[in-house]
Amino acid sequence: MSKISLNLNVWAIATDPIYIGTGGYSIGRVDNTIVRDPITKIPKIPGTSFAGTWRYYIALYLQSLFKDQYRIKRSERIDVDKISDLFIDDINNRNEQGFSEIKEWVYYEGNRYAAIKCAGQDESPQDEYSEACTKDTGHCGNCIVCKGFGFSKKDHSWQGMLSFSDLNIALFPIYTRWGTKWISSGRILNEAGLLQEGDGFDEDNMIILNEGAYGPKEGWLNLGWLNLPYKTAKMNIDFNQINSLFNIKEKDICIVPDKLISQIINSSLEVRTSVSIDPITGAAKDGALFTSEAIPRATVFYGTVRIYDKSMFKGIEIKINDSYAKINDLPTVKQLTLALKSTAGFYETLGIGGMTTRGFGRLKVLLNN
Ligand SMILES: [Zn+2]
Repeated sequence: MSKISLNLNVWAIATDPIYIGTGGYSIGRVDNTIVRDPITKIPKIPGTSFAGTWRYYIALYLQSLFKDQYRIKRSERIDVDKISDLFIDDINNRNEQGFSEIKEWVYYEGNRYAAIKCAGQDESPQDEYSEACTKDTGHCGNCIVCKGFGFSKKDHSWQGMLSFSDLNIALFPIYTRWGTKWISSGRILNEAGLLQEGDGFDEDNMIILNEGAYGPKEGWLNLGWLNLPYKTAKMNIDFNQINSLFNIKEKDICIVPDKLISQIINSSLEVRTSVSIDPITGAAKDGALFTSEAIPRATVFYGTVRIYDKSMFKGIEIKINDSYAKINDLPTVKQLTLALKSTAGFYETLGIGGMTTRGFGRLKVLLNN
């Protein structure tokens, strides 16, 4: 129905261990397991978590600009043209983007209805939807967050214009006797678009190091506790896309067979043991020892965000459950792109997933056109 108008490549590096739990499953000695790809069994950050946090960050950013004292009473709503003076200084103090770029998406007309409640789940999905939202609860249905990520009301639902893929592991850090290497496989490098056309690496039981790597031309290398034979070969990996995020060198890359990578990653996850504390005595609760696994810091992920151009729906009335709703105004693809870019920095402080209060979850995220 709607065409994809922009595919943004996402690259991210974990600056903390990342824990996104499955809830309730135990594997071996681990009580709190993380989300994995059902086929490869390689841990990942699911697209739903990724989209959910970004939704929250955009809503948070808008609120931080409007601030309480500037926030217009519900009855009179924000006059988008008048907010400029109020937060011009504020924007100038944030150097991620120029003022004109931030203005371009923050001034989207529907943002005058934005509220922090547009993030997260709608508390009152049974409300009727109106274009000039005056309700204090639930998603407003008008702002760039609601239009971009979608919302659902009693008589009207909107799928949104953004689609987030899972963030899959592209490069995984692993301890070797020659220092940290980042492992990947032929399939993963290909899927992540890091290989030049025609290059392929899939040696059956060998790992491949770059010609420039430390050590003899062939021999054995330990990846964690696994000792594997290696050979050296010329690599032509295109790191241009990720260099501004993470300056990685080919000599630190180790390509492992596709059939082994899942085993190697799963045997090198971070595992932590914690106890629950009894809030009354301040001591450990009896029998409350638990272990959690996490994706280690310095793991590099890749994924995509697609932005769908739905401008053809503008002005059209759509029949939903016996009533008609009209799509009045939509943010442009450019406005959505800018909104994502201005808020990607929140991942560096607020993070993603669970246990963020225990130093988990921070990511550095890069969006490339
Ligand atoms: Zn909204």
